[in-house]
Formats: sequence, structure tokens, C-alpha cells
Amino acid sequence: MGKADLHTHTSASDGELSPKQLIEKAVEKGLDTISITDHDTIKGYLDVKDLAGDYGITIIPGVEVSAKWNDREVHILAYNFDVNDPALIGLLHNQVWARKLRMKAIVKHLRSQGVDIDYDEVLAESFGGNIGRPHAASVLIKKRYARSVQEAFIRYLGNSVIQKIETEYTTVEDLVTVIKNAGGVLSIAHPSTFFTETEMEQLISFGIDGVECIHPSHNFNLQKKYLRFAKKNQLLITGGSDFHGKSKTDYDPFFGIVTLGSHHVEALIRTSDNRRSILEKQLSNG
Ligand code: AMP
Ligand code: ZN
Ligand code: FE
Ligand code: FE
Repeated sequence: MGKADLHTHTSASDGELSPKQLIEKAVEKGLDTISITDHDTIKGYLDVKDLAGDYGITIIPGVEVSAKWNDREVHILAYNFDVNDPALIGLLHNQVWARKLRMKAIVKHLRSQGVDIDYDEVLAESFGGNIGRPHAASVLIKKRYARSVQEAFIRYLGNSVIQKIETEYTTVEDLVTVIKNAGGVLSIAHPSTFFTETEMEQLISFGIDGVECIHPSHNFNLQKKYLRFAKKNQLLITGGSDFHGKSKTDYDPFFGIVTLGSHHVEALIRTSDNRRSILEKQLSNG
């Protein structure tokens, strides 16, 4: 049975490896399907999509979107959408801008606490990738405010003030509409870090198709719980390692180990194909 990893990050967001290096590592680990799910950008995927044939690997379009719901931020994974869809391109454009605005607010807060950090320094750490807190962590480490990314999060970047900063991220409702109109499917990312079962039921009522049951933050019991939840609600099952590259997160050893069976990938593609054929019929009926 083929192995897939539908949750990975590259240097196009806050990952360490370039998209090409990630594909090479995936081949080395024996994966036959991968999705690059950078935070709020598909640039990494676009860079390597034409290499898939050369490497004998399937690369599914993907993205991990930060969305607003009930005054909170939730991560929603989207897959197999039309990457040229104008509404999708517009939504991601807005997300990139919203991340910049949010980082400016984070820097302002840290400065008010006496931390010597500039927005431009954080931007420089992102090396052209979509900006996020791990890039601020790199600055804090360089300036000896913290010794590791984890410490930077504990001491500076994970506190409730920063979590409550108002963002311009998309709402879950808008995201679902845009992704479905682009023929894609959606899945709730790593629910363990965010949700109770009731909250998950509320979220799927917006039309989300699946749940990320397989993730390094889920122990065996949690995994079983989410698999049961998916079955009960007739949801797709997604999963992956949330790989960011060495030193970025605790999940990195799981690349090539925390994987998803190919039958789940096939179900996901079928859902997307059905969606696309319905959209085409609607278009041709005027
Ligand atoms: P952001 O996209 O700015 O909200 O930052 C979220 C990213 O920061 C996640 O995808 C992880 O890569 C990383 N992250 C979040 N919490 C931690 C943590 N406690 N330690 C290390 N990295 C973290
Ligand atoms: Zn990340
Ligand atoms: Fe996430
Ligand atoms: Fe992620």
C-alpha cells in the first residue's frame, strides 16, 4: 500500500527545506504522494509541481489556511483545488497581507515589553517566505532572548496577548465557499491542539469535508477518537507529519513515519473530482 504525507511545510512559509529539497527527502523516505501545505501560500507547490514526473511522486495541491472562527484562529487544510482560480488567488493574497499586519502588531507588542526587535528583521528571517511567528523566533534566538524556537514561543510568542491580536484572516465560511468553488476539499487540521468534539461538529457544519486524524500531536487514543468521529459524520480522513525541517518543531522525526494510506488519498481525490464535475455541469447549464 502506498504511503502519503498530506501535511508538510517548506521555505515558502516557515519550513527549513526548499520545496525541491522536500520532494527529494520525500522520495528518500519512500513516500509516493505528498502535499505541500505551507501556511497561506501555494508558492512552494507551484515551484515544484512540474518536477513530480521526474521524481516519480504525486504532488497534490495543498495549503494550510489560518482562519477566524468564534474569536479564535483555526487551521484548515485545503487540497486539490484549481490553483488558477481567481477567488482562491485573491483569498491567499489577502492572507499574506494579513500575516504582515499581524506580525507588525506582534512586534509592536514585544517592543512595548522592552524587547529589541524590528519588523524588518523578522521579514529578513522569512527569506521571501510567508511571514509567521517562527521567523520572529529566529530573531529572538539571534539576539539571545531565547535559545530555541520552543523557548521563544513559551517566553514571548505564545502568550494570550499575542493570540488575541485581531487579524484580517479569512473567515471559515468564506474559505469553505472559495475552496469548494475551486473544486477543492477541506479538512480540519490537528484538532487536538484546538477543539472539543462539539466544536468540531460546529466547524464541519460549515461544509468542511474531512478531519486530520493522523498527526504527530495525536496519540493512539486520540487518533482512534478522530477516526470514529470521521466515520460517524461521514468525513474524509486526512493526515501527515506537519514536517517543518530540522530544529523548527518537535514533529520533524515523524516525516516518512506518520503517514496516510493511499485509499484515503483516493477518497479525497474522488470527492474533489465529483465536485469539479458538478461545477462543470452547472457552468454548461448556464
Ligand atoms: P503562525 O503561523 O505565525 O501562527 O505560527 C505558527 C507556527 O509556529 C506553527 O505552524 C509552528 O510551525 C510554529 N509553532 C507554534 N507553536 C510552537 C511552539 N510552541 N514551539 C515551536 N514552534 C511552534
Ligand atoms: Zn508552521
Ligand atoms: Fe497548523
Ligand atoms: Fe502545519
